[in-house]
Amino acid sequence: MTRPPLHPLPDALQRLLRDVSPLEGLESLPLTDACGRVLAVDQLSVLDLPPWDNSAMDGYAINHADAGQRLPVTRRIAAGDPPGTLEERAAARIFTGAPLPSGADAVLMQEDAQVEGNEIHIPDAIRPGQHVRRRGEECKVGERLLAAGRRLRPQDIGMLAAQGLAQVDVKPRLRVALLSTGSELVEPGTAPPAPGRIYNSNRPMLLALLHTLGCSAVDMGNVQDSAEATRAALGKAAASSDLIISTGGVSVGEEDHVRSAVEALGELTLWRIAVKPGKPFAHGRVGGCPFIGLPGNPASAFVTFLLLARPWIERRQGRSESRRLRFSARADFTRDGSARREEYLRVVLEAQPGAAGGMAFARKPDTGDDASRGETGDRALWATPFQNQSSGILRSVTAADALACVPAGRPVERGDEVEVLPLDQLLS
Ligand code: AMP
Ligand code: MG
Repeated sequence: MTRPPLHPLPDALQRLLRDVSPLEGLESLPLTDACGRVLAVDQLSVLDLPPWDNSAMDGYAINHADAGQRLPVTRRIAAGDPPGTLEERAAARIFTGAPLPSGADAVLMQEDAQVEGNEIHIPDAIRPGQHVRRRGEECKVGERLLAAGRRLRPQDIGMLAAQGLAQVDVKPRLRVALLSTGSELVEPGTAPPAPGRIYNSNRPMLLALLHTLGCSAVDMGNVQDSAEATRAALGKAAASSDLIISTGGVSVGEEDHVRSAVEALGELTLWRIAVKPGKPFAHGRVGGCPFIGLPGNPASAFVTFLLLARPWIERRQGRSESRRLRFSARADFTRDGSARREEYLRVVLEAQPGAAGGMAFARKPDTGDDASRGETGDRALWATPFQNQSSGILRSVTAADALACVPAGRPVERGDEVEVLPLDQLLS
């Protein structure tokens, strides 16, 4: 049987994403429920922040013109008090966050104040504005604080709250139907599997990934390896979701029924990618519902979810292209350049090769200071692969900080620069 050529990742992504447009509509949510959701509209500042000049320190509100003087302390202003006015040639006791009284233009921190009875001595050098947080220094009315398409993070929720908002408009949740396939699978929480059977790890892992991306997962359970069961499950999934994701059953074995079921119920538009791990990735539609078939091997399912399913989901969620950190690290491994697939190695990142220890990491024997510092003596991080990079070894992913990308056909010497994608960034 001749097999179609493998699609390089950029080609696969282009095919996968070409017809994907953002979901219409929006939903207004209480701030406390909005973390992880995608902002539907630009958020403009409705307040100057801070709303008034206030003290950045516990100390004394003064006027810089009184430098070198001895002044009576005539007022006390705590956080929450109104600002009032500072009398001429006087100081006010003030605390962090309290509004600066009119007439004052600086704060003397209490550690620098010489106090005698009810008087303080002001040092000779006082800078106007010192230890004062100016009105509007964080933002001014009308400034854009957050752009539509951003996935809300906890700090964004804090900033919206500081603007007095209790609700925020977000994009609707994407409904993703998830099904795992495999007659060998039993669900976690049940008795230890009989010989020949294993626990289903992909399904809970993918439900968690979907949750992390702010999707509403429709759990379709596990499907036995038969043509009829697979077709029935896919048909049902298509009726209730914006996207179907399956795992397993997309390879070339006789027990792999997903591909033919998709072809029977719709169309397969992409199959097999030049990525390791993850070759049997599939994409198409079931009826009118988009379909993504992830490989069954758990490390492959995880990596292809991040590299392909995630971008699809984010585009459909209306998420703007997010700025993700990709950077270079030094390879603590070698490759001879014969690989025909782009490889995504599960690596730890560390300041020195092998510093994170771990017997399971493929650290070369210590080769001395030069190697661990890198040729230029720089502070580059080293990417050390988990020793067993098999696509079935989920520990390679749980142990990893990042995926290190080695393009097909590229030889790698130890110490060469390779691109790394931190896992936390991919899921941010
Ligand atoms: P498949 O792609 O269905 O041929 O599966 C490839 C390998 O991944 C086989 O060893 C399966 O037992 C394993 N596998 C498939 N699905 C799962 C799953 N949901 N959880 C754990 N292992 C799986
Ligand atoms: Mg299978």
